[in-house]
Amino acid sequence: MKKMFIPFSVPYIGKEEIDSVVDTLKSGWLTTGPKTKQFEADFASYVGCKHAIAVSSCTAALHLAMDAVGVGKGDIVLTTPMTFAATAEVIEYMGATPVFVDIDPGTLNMSPELLEERLRSMTPEERRRAKAVIPVHMAGHPCDMDAITDIAGKYGLKVVEDAAHTLPARYKGRMIGSISPVTCFSFYPTKCITSAEGGMLATDDDGYAERMRIMSLHGISKGAWNRYSKEGSWYYEVLQPGFKYNLPDVLSAIGISQLRRSESLLEMRMRHAEVYSHAFRDMPGIELPELSPDVEHSWHLYIIKLNLEMLGIDRGGFIEELRSRGVFASVHFIPLHLHPYYRQKYGYKPSDFPRAESQYKRMLSLPFYPKMTDEELDYVIETVRETLERNYVKQTTAAGGDLTADCKLAV
Ligand SMILES: *Cc1c(COP(=O)(O)O)cnc(C)c1O
Repeated sequence: MKKMFIPFSVPYIGKEEIDSVVDTLKSGWLTTGPKTKQFEADFASYVGCKHAIAVSSCTAALHLAMDAVGVGKGDIVLTTPMTFAATAEVIEYMGATPVFVDIDPGTLNMSPELLEERLRSMTPEERRRAKAVIPVHMAGHPCDMDAITDIAGKYGLKVVEDAAHTLPARYKGRMIGSISPVTCFSFYPTKCITSAEGGMLATDDDGYAERMRIMSLHGISKGAWNRYSKEGSWYYEVLQPGFKYNLPDVLSAIGISQLRRSESLLEMRMRHAEVYSHAFRDMPGIELPELSPDVEHSWHLYIIKLNLEMLGIDRGGFIEELRSRGVFASVHFIPLHLHPYYRQKYGYKPSDFPRAESQYKRMLSLPFYPKMTDEELDYVIETVRETLERNYVKQTTAAGGDLTADCKLAV
């Protein structure tokens, strides 16, 4: 095989995105204005929520959501360790404590059973401080939202979804973005759609929407009492020390074009996922992504798990071998309780979340993006096959036939 270079991710940017950025630049209105209003309206009708508020990132969205649902100093917010830094750092911003709940090893999403178990084991004092839960739809596979919503209801928690990976995705036919009090999306370049940087808040709640909109721009509100007076055009009031989290029109212009492509980008990713899963199904060293019958997956990431007991190599070594052949894989994510900040502040040991820890050791995310060609997909598949074959431990290769029966099939 001739060596190729396959990056981990490449954003899909077409003529529409480029033309609309140029038009916006020429319009003379660069920051938040008509394009952002349009992006919000298009997004709200796409996911089926009453209010969509465009912000500068998903991290900003999560921060504003924590503020809106009333998370404050000393409170507790439950979330998963299997996520990106952003999910827990916003809890820290509020002076609250993130409490991690271990995952379902198949989907890598927070386990509803363990969520309930954790809440049940809390002291009455801790339970009083527990204000919210942030489920993360890992790789684009929606969490079990009925179970999480039920538990949240029972314990008086607000649900804020981290939907950085899920556009579009459905849970029992309902679009992610239309289920919980607040849902937060990301338009970072590696995500399902991009605006270079950006995020979106989705909510049906008028009060949350008003609070998040005000806080996203310095906590400024137009003074209601003089809205119709001569001073109305320049007068404003600072209601709170808010943030500077607005999304500029130059970026919303990209977002509008990308949102129009959302379904066709998903189709491309689904097709690639099928090609991968079809090929990997016969490779006993690999476990495929799991797919619950309740969901429509957005296929943001394609994560495989190595059956390490069959291999004379660890996950890090596997990634290095792929890389030396030009295939750039990655890992999503290094569980948060393994990072120095959380380890030191909360005294976590790796074994505190054994499922996250053990899945982390075997996971890798393969190159995966809409524009991948058949040749590129084949190159990744053959490189993975060769890397496995070079590293199979002899006696388990013979048992491979039996072990494959355990592999969960994705598509
Ligand atoms: C990317 C990501 C975020 C943060 O998104 P930004 O738009 O970069 O702020 C949050 N949560 C998860 C799970 C992510 O993958």
